Amino acid sequence: MDVYRQKKPVFINVIDEKISTILRGGFFSDERCHMGKKKFVFSPDGNIFLCDRIVYDGNPESPHCIGNVKTGIDNRKMTCKIDETDEPNHECLTCTVEKYCRHWCGCTNFHSTGYYNRVEAFLCAKEKIAIKIALHILETLEVDIPTTFSNHQNGSYDN
Ligand code: SF4
Ligand code: SF4
Repeated sequence: MDVYRQKKPVFINVIDEKISTILRGGFFSDERCHMGKKKFVFSPDGNIFLCDRIVYDGNPESPHCIGNVKTGIDNRKMTCKIDETDEPNHECLTCTVEKYCRHWCGCTNFHSTGYYNRVEAFLCAKEKIAIKIALHILETLEVDIPTTFSNHQNGSYDN
């Protein structure tokens, strides 16, 4: 908090990002993951993947490959790593800070839990503490938050 009060241009991405997200009311729908719905990635040989972070070498046998531009999309593979009984995380459904949390990144979840829709405990704890600190800063600072934060992000305190 002293960083903001003293107008020092010190950036802590994990906190700054949460303050920015809170100030605009949470992640918008279009900001959230749309892998396999609105987002598709194509390898040079035409294989279709859910996300650029899980293309690897473009292998069509990969569980993340959902088809090919010549043969179309295999709908069965689109949900191959989603457990229908647990989608999304039950804890996230009732979480009070869900709208500020990045629990929805399917490839991050896959790499840590093996499922697109299951959040790893460390990520959950990291998101919770970052959001808690950001909320505390916003509730405690006795300044014009939008202006101060905008200046902080720009590294400018001319106002
Ligand atoms: S903080 Fe944890 S429980 Fe809450 S939405 Fe994020 S991952 Fe889910
Ligand atoms: S899985 Fe993560 S990186 Fe990939 S499209 Fe979804 S949010 Fe983006």
